[in-house]
Amino acid sequence: QPTATDRLLAQVLPLEARNYNPLPIVIVEGSGVWVTDADGNRYMDMLSAYSALNAGHRHPRLIRALLDQAMQVTLTSRAFYNEPYVRLCAKLTSYTGKEAILPMNTGAEAIETAIKASRRWGYMHKGIPAEQAEIIVCEGNFHGRTVTATSFSSTEAYRSGFGPFTPGFRIIPYGDIEALEDAITSNTAAFLIEPIQGEAGIILPPDGYLAAAAAACRAHNVLFIADEIQTGFGRTGKRFACDHYGVVPDMYVLGKALGGGILPVSAIAADRSILDVFDPGSHGSTFGGNALACAVAAESIAVIEDEQLDARSAALGARLLEAVSRISHPLIRDVRGSGLFVGIELAVPARPYCERLMSLGLLCKETHEHTIRLAPPLTISSKELEWAITRIEALFV
Ligand code: PLP
Repeated sequence: QPTATDRLLAQVLPLEARNYNPLPIVIVEGSGVWVTDADGNRYMDMLSAYSALNAGHRHPRLIRALLDQAMQVTLTSRAFYNEPYVRLCAKLTSYTGKEAILPMNTGAEAIETAIKASRRWGYMHKGIPAEQAEIIVCEGNFHGRTVTATSFSSTEAYRSGFGPFTPGFRIIPYGDIEALEDAITSNTAAFLIEPIQGEAGIILPPDGYLAAAAAACRAHNVLFIADEIQTGFGRTGKRFACDHYGVVPDMYVLGKALGGGILPVSAIAADRSILDVFDPGSHGSTFGGNALACAVAAESIAVIEDEQLDARSAALGARLLEAVSRISHPLIRDVRGSGLFVGIELAVPARPYCERLMSLGLLCKETHEHTIRLAPPLTISSKELEWAITRIEALFV
C-alpha cells in the first residue's frame, strides 16, 4: 500500500526539474522547530531552510505581521513609498549600524547589488579606469546562482555548462592573508567574503584572518564586503559572524532569516558614501522593498532582538558543539561550528547519514558532500536540543 508521501513523490518526479536532491519527505505543516509530513510523521527541522528559519516555522509574531500587512497594502513598487519600507529602513540600519540599505528579494540579487555598488564605487571614488574593476573572492565560496555569482564560483558542479561567464573576478584561497595582499591591485574595488563559509561545509576562518583581511582592504582602499546571508541574524551566536572576529565590514549582504522564513527578503547595508553611487534608474526590483516583505522583515529583526536569539544560539550552540565533539567514531573527521551552526565532517559521503537521521526524526541536509550541517531554528528549547543530541549520538553507535 503506497503512503501519501509515495503518491506525492511519484506524482512530482516526472513534472519537475532535478536541480535538487531532496530527502523523500513532503512537509505539510511546520510549527517552531517541528514539521509534519503528508503521512502525519513528525520531525525536528535541523536545517531551518538553510538558516532562513532562525525564528522557527510560523512564529506567531511574524504571522501576525504578515496578516496585518496583508489587510493594508502588499505591493506599491518603488515608484511610491510604503510605510513598512520606511520602518524596515530604520530597523535594518539600526541593526547593522550602517547608514542606509537597499532591499531586494533573494540572496543572489543582493549579491548582484553588492557587486554593482562596489564596481560603481570603484569608478566614482577610487578612480579605477572604466571597465577595469576587479573583485576578489575566496575559493569554496557560495554567493548564489546567478550567472555572475556562478562566474566566480570555484565549484565545478555549479559552473559546468553555464558559461560564458562574467569577467572581473579573482579567486584566492580562503584564509590566506598573503594571497589577498598579493591579489589586490589598484583596480581592486572589493573583497567579497563569507566570514564563515556555509555551503563549503561550515568553514571557520583561521585566527586573525578576517581582521587582517579587513585591515589590508582598508590600507588599499578596497571595500570589505561580508556575505552574511547565511550567517547573519544570530545564526552563529552573535548578531553577525563578523562580530566574533572584531570586524566591521564596509557592507553587509543579508537575506534568508531577514524574511522570517516567510518571504524572500534581502538587502545590502552600507554607509551613504557607498550607497550614494546609485542614482534613479541605475538599479531596482519590482518586488524589492514591497510592503508585505518589509513588514515581515522589520518584525523578523524585532523578534530576533526581543528573544535574544543570538545569545540563545551561542549558549545552545556551545552545548551542541560540545556534545557532538564528544562522539567518537572512526568516520568522523572533524566537528566544528559557531553557535547553532555546526558541521560534522565525515570521511565518507554524508547523504546516507542524513537519511538515517531522518528515520530517527531529524531533518538535516548534507553540505559539500561530506558534512552534515546542524542548524536548527534558534528558538529551539534546551529540551528539544537534548532530544536532537540523543538522535545524533544514536547515529554513530
Ligand atoms: N550567499 C550565501 C552565503 C548563501 O548561503 C546563499 C544561499 O544559500 C546565497 C548567497 C544565495 O541566496 P539565495 O538562495 O536567496 O539566492
